[in-house]
Amino acid sequence: MSTTNAPHAAPAELVTELCRHFYGLGWASGTGGGISIRQGDFIYMAPSGIQKERIAAEDVFVLDANELEEAVVVRPAQTHSLNMSECTPLFYNAYRARGAGAVLHSHSIWAVLAAKIASPTGAPGVIEFEGLEMQKGLRGKGCFDRVRVPVIANTAREAELTDSMAEAMEAHLDVDAVVVAGHGVYVWGDDWGHAKTQAECYDYLFRAVVETARLGR
Ligand SMILES: [Zn+2]
Repeated sequence: MSTTNAPHAAPAELVTELCRHFYGLGWASGTGGGISIRQGDFIYMAPSGIQKERIAAEDVFVLDANELEEAVVVRPAQTHSLNMSECTPLFYNAYRARGAGAVLHSHSIWAVLAAKIASPTGAPGVIEFEGLEMQKGLRGKGCFDRVRVPVIANTAREAELTDSMAEAMEAHLDVDAVVVAGHGVYVWGDDWGHAKTQAECYDYLFRAVVETARLGR
């Protein structure tokens, strides 16, 4: 991937396009969810508290990808009233600890319900599944592996999830997702396509967990 000295329009456009797509999937309704993409020297991130299917490319925040200890804004949203995503420190968990090229956050109902089955009280737990072909879309997994995805407890503010998400990532090095009880899921990958593929597979697998329980199997 080429290193650049100025933010590019294309990744910002891609963030808006993916947000529209995720909105269509029910992953980003009610202004929830979001995505950030690391490319070259920059991280491109959707703003907070906005209709995710209507973001202008000029309102995508651009951050310094060489400074991962804390978020350093290179170019804020053109609309001054917009704030940086509440997910920022959570996205940075994956950039720092896993060298991710993209991280997305989904409010998918399937992640929420699968977590509810795994941990009815909303306490930390694990979603488990095996024997499903779509597991092949997860890094390092085959369809007969048993996959264990960590669930962390939700907090009043998204940023308060930062430490518990980092601990769950450390305890589950073989998966690229952390589910938040009653809330949604964070998924990352080597680049935006890998993150999107894994997020789609996880969503399918979480739905499989829910529908299997509903069938009483
Ligand atoms: Zn959220």
